[in-house]
Amino acid sequence: MNQRPFELDPLFRGLTSLPGLGSRNGKLVEKLTDGPRVVNLLFHGPVDFIDRRFTCLLSKAPNGKVLTTQIRVEQHIPNTRKSLPYRVKCTDGSGEVMLVFFHAKKSWIEKLLPLGDERVISGRIEYFQGRPQIVHPEVVKPQDRDNLETVEPIYPLTAGITNKVLRKAIKSALSFVPYLPEWVEENHKKREGWPSWHEAIHLLHNPDSDRDLEPTSKVRARLAYDELLANQLTLALVRDRQRKINGRSFKPTGALRSKIEGVLPFNLTDAQSRSLAEIDRDMSDNARMLRLIQGDVGSGKTIVAAMAMMNAVENGAQAAIIVPTEILARQHEQSIKAWMEAAGVRMVTLTGRDKGKTRELILKQIKDGTAQIIIGTHAIFQADVEYKDLGLAVIDEQHRFGVHQRMELSSKGKGTDILVMTATPIPRTLALTAYGDMEVSRIDEKPPGRKPIETMLFSKEKLDDLVAALKRKIADGVRIYWVCPLVEESEVLELAAAEERYDTLKTIFKERVGLVHGRMKPSEKDDIMASFMSGDIDILVATTVIEVGVDVPEATIMVIEHAERFGLSQLHQLRGRVGRGNEQSYCFLVYSGPLGEVAKERLNIMRETEDGFIIAEKDLQLRGSGDILGTKQSGITDFQLADLTVHGDLLATARNDAKLIISKDPDLNTSRGVSLKTLLYLFERDQAIRYFRGG
Ligand code: ADP
Ligand code: MG
Repeated sequence: MNQRPFELDPLFRGLTSLPGLGSRNGKLVEKLTDGPRVVNLLFHGPVDFIDRRFTCLLSKAPNGKVLTTQIRVEQHIPNTRKSLPYRVKCTDGSGEVMLVFFHAKKSWIEKLLPLGDERVISGRIEYFQGRPQIVHPEVVKPQDRDNLETVEPIYPLTAGITNKVLRKAIKSALSFVPYLPEWVEENHKKREGWPSWHEAIHLLHNPDSDRDLEPTSKVRARLAYDELLANQLTLALVRDRQRKINGRSFKPTGALRSKIEGVLPFNLTDAQSRSLAEIDRDMSDNARMLRLIQGDVGSGKTIVAAMAMMNAVENGAQAAIIVPTEILARQHEQSIKAWMEAAGVRMVTLTGRDKGKTRELILKQIKDGTAQIIIGTHAIFQADVEYKDLGLAVIDEQHRFGVHQRMELSSKGKGTDILVMTATPIPRTLALTAYGDMEVSRIDEKPPGRKPIETMLFSKEKLDDLVAALKRKIADGVRIYWVCPLVEESEVLELAAAEERYDTLKTIFKERVGLVHGRMKPSEKDDIMASFMSGDIDILVATTVIEVGVDVPEATIMVIEHAERFGLSQLHQLRGRVGRGNEQSYCFLVYSGPLGEVAKERLNIMRETEDGFIIAEKDLQLRGSGDILGTKQSGITDFQLADLTVHGDLLATARNDAKLIISKDPDLNTSRGVSLKTLLYLFERDQAIRYFRGG
């Protein structure tokens, strides 16, 4: 079975195939459901429901309760002014209720509620001047009573889409939900009291009590487990297959490393040495290395990577380090250069900027092995880049790479060892979902002598005071990052804000200010960065492009405007750009307007701790798992059904189950295995499925 099972087909139709979803509505709903297919909509669960089962005499109608009952229309009271509602008085013999309509057409109401006719109405009773009324009730003819849903789920919506529209589409989708073979182990399912998948999808959209809305309800737990199992199974498969590719054994001789140690102005920290020992063990081993190094900003990952690369080079192979941006590639080149010179190792840097003859020459050096170390952006893994013998690939600042990119990259060499480095302090649960295929080392200690960064909150109204203080600092020779507000989804506005700030600062600090942003040509960016590093400019105004990895130890002040708009982990990354030398560093979080409680709490966390893991955990609690990794689009952590802040246990179970499944049935050939393949297709885990093709 190496094609999507046909019974899933209805779920993979486009949303626009559903009633009420034309291309306009379809687009809106697609945003809401994080995907263009029917299955994405089916995973979009309600957040509340209206219970229309309650009925009683109007004379006894309780305030605030949703009431459904049959009435007769007694009187129309049209509005005298546009801003006033149109009212319709109705009775059930025991008492009266006023139906209230704002901004409604007279003709429409007359047709809906003809004078003297009987109707079934439903809506929330509110007392107004001592009398019961219902604003905008649901109304049907008595013979259509069955069309009134007794329990009406309420969905998260987006502008332009009403609950009614969404409900109709979902109802239709539910009518063709297939029965799928069970992939959850029978005993497990029994023990948890879980429904089948088919039942679960139906129940998700037909909540009956508040309990049903909780993420830990049986229905939601089952669906979350399914999603997590698909995720963990994918990772387990990747890991299993990668391990089966024979790795190579690179035993460190120390010949080159000792030369680097000779020029290092510091000793490795214990955490660095420990991580390096773990890497050495993996690399000497025959199995291929797949290791993640987690180390907070400034923890010193670069030297660890450089030492690991020496293992490969000492054994006659090449090593490459891939980074997300041009600036970082140049920066790494700078910091590694002296070490490589000391070791007598030849190094090239290749980025998208290298064209024509230069590029050809670099490619030739990579191919014939003249280049022993290769630094670069994605460019170094393009199809036409051939390596003589790539032994180790290091991926820096991993959060921009997904599982499948890791796999693609390893196809450049036979059994190439892979070392991934991330500065994003990922909470353990998230680490399992994103990197469950890798071993993890943590550099959980900073080099000695670093002073804590002093972090202060600053209202934007007091910006002038801040600028005056900075002026004095600059006179003392301090260098400053000034990060301009994040503007959601608008690079243009973001740039405009940065340019405006640059202009005002320029009137004060003259030519000592520089501006760097994502729309600049790489060469322009490099020039500005270079003048900031050399001290030709003192203030670097930037959009968030500096977030990742830049190392200027002389910079000791970080100003972040509209700090309230940033995620905590992002603030932490930005703040990590300072505090890299021995001088006291400061971080000013400038906020605008009155802060809400949560916003205040979030920013205060930044003042209280510099521990990236604590910050990430808090961020996860306060924001949900959505964007900790900044990788919504990479598809590694954006779960639709699972919520890692509550489903941590399910994740652990899914992880163990996935391991067991793959160890017993690595090709998913048993009957349960076949069901599990259906699960993988259901959650579009195509990377995993690819493994079964042709094999
Ligand atoms: P990151 O983990 O953020 O990539 P870097 O590798 O850029 O951190 O290191 C940050 C700074 O700390 C660099 O200037 C580096 O030279 C320095 N550094 C690294 N390891 C040590 C150490 N053991 N002792 C002192 N300084 C160190
Ligand atoms: Mg780094």
